[in-house]
Amino acid sequence: MKEKEKKETHRPVQTIQEFYCPDCGAKLIPAEGCLLCPFCGWSKCR
Ligand SMILES: [Zn+2]
Repeated sequence: MKEKEKKETHRPVQTIQEFYCPDCGAKLIPAEGCLLCPFCGWSKCR
């Protein structure tokens, strides 16, 4: 069962992704599975 280990080694150390608002370009804040823009209030849940 080394599949999971193999998968993790392939990923970079930095796991946190940064997203930017498509409307105003501000950095989005991740909140409970959603992304929120503190500037214009744009939000996306996935
Ligand atoms: Zn925005």
